[in-house]
Amino acid sequence: MKKLALHWQIIIGLAFGLVYGIVAASNGWGDFTTDWVAPFGIIFMNLLKLIAVPLVLASLITGVASLSDLKKLSRIGGKTIGIYIGTTAVAVTIGLISVNVLQPGDKVPDLMKEKLQETYEADASSRFGSAEKVKNRGPLQAIVDMVPSNFFSSASSNRNMLQVVFAAIFIGIGLIQIPKDKGKPVLDFFEGLNDVVIKLVDLIMLMAPVGVFALIAQTINKVAGNDLAQVLELLGALGYYMVAVILGLLFHAVFTYTGLLKILTKMPLKTFYRGIAPAQLLAFSTSSSGATLPVTMERCEDELGVSEEVSSFVLPLGATINMDGTALYQAVAAVFIAQTLGMDLGIGAQLTIILTAVLASIGTAAVPGAGIIMLVIILEAVGVPTAGIALILGVDRILDMMRTVVNVTGDASVAVIVANSEGQLNIPNK
Ligand code: ASP
Repeated sequence: MKKLALHWQIIIGLAFGLVYGIVAASNGWGDFTTDWVAPFGIIFMNLLKLIAVPLVLASLITGVASLSDLKKLSRIGGKTIGIYIGTTAVAVTIGLISVNVLQPGDKVPDLMKEKLQETYEADASSRFGSAEKVKNRGPLQAIVDMVPSNFFSSASSNRNMLQVVFAAIFIGIGLIQIPKDKGKPVLDFFEGLNDVVIKLVDLIMLMAPVGVFALIAQTINKVAGNDLAQVLELLGALGYYMVAVILGLLFHAVFTYTGLLKILTKMPLKTFYRGIAPAQLLAFSTSSSGATLPVTMERCEDELGVSEEVSSFVLPLGATINMDGTALYQAVAAVFIAQTLGMDLGIGAQLTIILTAVLASIGTAAVPGAGIIMLVIILEAVGVPTAGIALILGVDRILDMMRTVVNVTGDASVAVIVANSEGQLNIPNK
C-alpha cells in the first residue's frame, strides 16, 4: 500500500487534535489532557528543538565553507538580506493598509474593553519585564547581542540562535581561509554532523501526526480552559482584529511570495506549496519557526530542489531574522490597540511603525509568543500605552500559529529565489 503523503498525515493529526480539543474543553477534561496528551507534543517539539542548534551550526559552517570565496559569500549574503528586509517592509505595509481600512479597533464594545484589560492585566505586565530589558538598551546593543563571548553559553539556549548563526558564519569564513588539507578534517566532521541531523529529521517526522495531535489538543485546552463559551465570546469581540491580521497574512502569502516566485523563478506553485506544506503545517502546530527549521531545510532541498549550499545559508539565517508574518501582525496589533484606546495615529507614527516593526521582527526569537514581547517596543516608539497588549493577549496564540506559517513560507520562498538567481535550483520532475 502506498504510504500517505506526510502533509496528509499531519493534517489528519491536526484534525483529530482539533476535534479532541473541542470535545475535551466541552467535557472539562483539561487536567487529563495536560497529564496524558500534552506530553507527546512536548516530546515532539523538544526533539525538533534538540536538533536545531547542531543543524544551524553544521549546515552554516559547511554552507559558508562550500562558498569557497568571500566574494561569493558577500554576494549571496547581500542578496538574501536585501530580499528579507524588502519583503518584511512590504508585509508591514500590507498590515497597515489592512488595519486602516478595516478599523477593527472601533468595533470592540466598551464593556469588553474593560473586561479584557482586567482579565489579562497581570499576564500582560509579566511580559513587560522582558520588554523592559530590550527597551533600555543603547542603539547598538542589538549588534553587540549578536556577537557571543562564549560559544557554549550561546548554544545552550535556542533563543540565542542569532549568536549561533554568527559563530557558524565566522568559523566558516575561517575555514575558507586556511589551506584545504588543514580544513578538511573539520569540514568533514561538520558535513557528517549535518547528514546525521538531516537523518534525524526523518526519524522525528515519524512521530509528527501524534505530536501535532497533542500540540493542537493542548493549545485548545490552554486557550479554552474548561469554558468554551468564554472563548467564543473572546473570538467574537476580537473577531475583526483577527480578520485584519489573517487577511493581511493571506494577502502577503498569496500576492507577495507567489508574485515573486512567478516573476523571478520557474518554480511551479503547485510544486512549491506541495513541497513546503509539511513545514507550514508544523509551523502552525508548533508556533515556532526555529523548531520547524530542520523540516523546512529538508523539504527545500529534497522537494523544491534548492541546493544544499544555498539552503544551508539562507534558511537558518531566515528562521532567525526574517519574520514577515510577525512584522505584519505587529503593525496590525499596534494600530488596533491605538484605535481601541481612541488614539489617532498619523502618517508619521505609521512610518515609525514600518521602521520599528522591520527591526523588531529581526530581533524576535523564533519561538512561540516572541512576537508579542517585541510589540511592546513598537508601542513605545509610537507612544501607545503598552498595557494595551492585554487587549489582544487572549487570541495571541491563534495568530501566532498563523504568522509562523507565513514566516516559514517567506524563508522558503527566498531560498528558492536566491537558489534560482545563483543557478542552483534544480526543480524536481514530480
Ligand atoms: N512564533 C513566531 C516564530 O517562531 C515568532 C512570533 O511570535 O511572532 O516564527
